[in-house]
Amino acid sequence: MNFNLPEELQMLKQTIRQFVDRELIPIEMHSQQNNDLKPDIRDRLEKKTKEMGLWMFDVPEEYEGAGLGSLAQVVVWEEMCRTIALPSRGRGIFGPEIRPILYALNDEQKKRFLYPILHSGKELCFMQTEPDAGADPGSMKTRAVRQGDFYIVNGTKRFITGAEKADFGQLMAVTDPAKGSHGGISCFLIDMKSPGLKITATYKTMMGEEPCEVVLDDVKVPVENLVGKEGEGFKLAQRWLGIGRLKHGARALGVAERCIEMGSRYAKQRVTFGKPLSERQGISFKLADSYVELHAARLMVYQAAWKNDQQEDIRTEAYMAKMFADEMSFRVVDRVLQIHGGIGLTLDLPLAKWFMDQRSRMITEGASEVMRMVIARHVLQKYV
Ligand SMILES: Cc1cc2nc3c(=O)[nH]c(=O)nc-3n(C[C@H](O)[C@H](O)[C@H](O)COP(=O)(O)OP(=O)(O)OC[C@H]3O[C@@H](n4cnc5c(N)ncnc54)[C@H](O)[C@@H]3O)c2cc1C
Repeated sequence: MNFNLPEELQMLKQTIRQFVDRELIPIEMHSQQNNDLKPDIRDRLEKKTKEMGLWMFDVPEEYEGAGLGSLAQVVVWEEMCRTIALPSRGRGIFGPEIRPILYALNDEQKKRFLYPILHSGKELCFMQTEPDAGADPGSMKTRAVRQGDFYIVNGTKRFITGAEKADFGQLMAVTDPAKGSHGGISCFLIDMKSPGLKITATYKTMMGEEPCEVVLDDVKVPVENLVGKEGEGFKLAQRWLGIGRLKHGARALGVAERCIEMGSRYAKQRVTFGKPLSERQGISFKLADSYVELHAARLMVYQAAWKNDQQEDIRTEAYMAKMFADEMSFRVVDRVLQIHGGIGLTLDLPLAKWFMDQRSRMITEGASEVMRMVIARHVLQKYV
C-alpha cells in the first residue's frame, strides 16, 4: 500500500501550485472586485494553460482534451482552488465547463450540442430543481408529453445557474408519472431560445450567484433531443456522479490548504498583548485542528479518485469524501477568519468569499443531509 502520489502527479501538483502562486493569487482581489477576470488577463492565462498542456484537462482525449485520470484531475482542482481568481463557471482559463452527460449523446446530438460547447463558446445550464423539488428531485412535476415528433413541456424550474446566458439547457422532466424517479424521469437538451421558455425571476444570493426561475409553457422539444432512452434521465446522471462529487471535495481541499497557509502567516506576524497570536494555544490549536482535518479529507478524496481510476464503484466513498471535505473546509475558513479578526471580514482578503461559498456548498451541490442519507443507506445494508 503506497499513499504517495505518483512522481508525475507530484510534478503536476508543483507546476500548478507555481502557476497559481505566480499568476493568480497576485490578481485575485482585483478579480473579486470586478466579479471576474478581465478579458485580456483571461486570454493571457488561457495561453499559459495551453502551453502547460492543461487546456480541457478533464475532457477525454477523443474530444481533444488532455484526458487526465480522476486522481490527476483531483490534484489540478485542488491546486487551482487555492485562489478565488478562477471564473466559477462558463469558459474558464482551463477550457469550457462540460457536463459529462454530453459524452452520452449520440453522434448527431454531439454535433449539435457537445462540439459547439467544446469549441465555439456555447454554454449549457442544468435544469432540475423546482419550487417543490430540490433535495428530492424525484418529486419534480415538470411534464414532457410526447405528441408526434415532439415532446410538449410544461413546468417551472427554480435556481437555474446561468440560465440567462446559456444557449442550451439540460432539462430533467417527468415522462411517466406512474414510475416517478424509478424510470419515469427523462433528460432532454433544449434550446434556451425555444418559444414558451421564459426567465421569470432572478434570485440574489449571498455568494453573488444569481440563479433564475424558468417557466416552460408548452415548449416544443424535438424527440431527437431526448438523451438516451425515455425514463433513463436519473440513470445517466448517476454515471458521472462520483467524479463530480470528487471535484467538489478537491475544491474544498484547496480552499482549506490556502486558509491554513494564510492563518499560519498571520498568526506569526500579528502581535497582541505583547506576543504573536501563534504563541497562544487558543489560536495555534485552531490551526492544528484544521491541519488534521485537511489531512483526513485529502486521504479520503485521493483514495476515492484512485479507486475510480481502477474502474471500481466509488459511489459511497465519493459521497463521504465530498461531505467530509466540504464541511471540513467550512470549519477551517471559519477558524482562519476568526484568527484574522476584523481584517478577515473585509473584502481585502479571500476569506469572506470562501466563508459564503463553502457554506453554500453544503446545500447547493449535494446537500449534506442527502449525502448522509445515501451513506446511511449503505451502512444499514452492510451491517445486517
Ligand atoms: C446559488 C444556487 C445555484 C443553484 N444552481 C442550480 C442549478 O444550476 N440547477 C439546478 O437544478 N438546481 C440548482 N440549485 C438548486 C439546489 O440544487 C437546491 O437548492 C438544493 O438541491 C436543495 O433544494 P431546496 O433548496 O429545494 O431544499 P429542500 O429540498 O427544500 O431542503 C431543505 C433542507 O432540508 C434538507 N432535507 C431535505 N430532505 C431531507 C431529509 N429527508 N432528511 C433530512 N434533511 C432533509 C435539505 O438538505 C436542505 O438542507 C441552485 C441553488 C442555489 C441556491
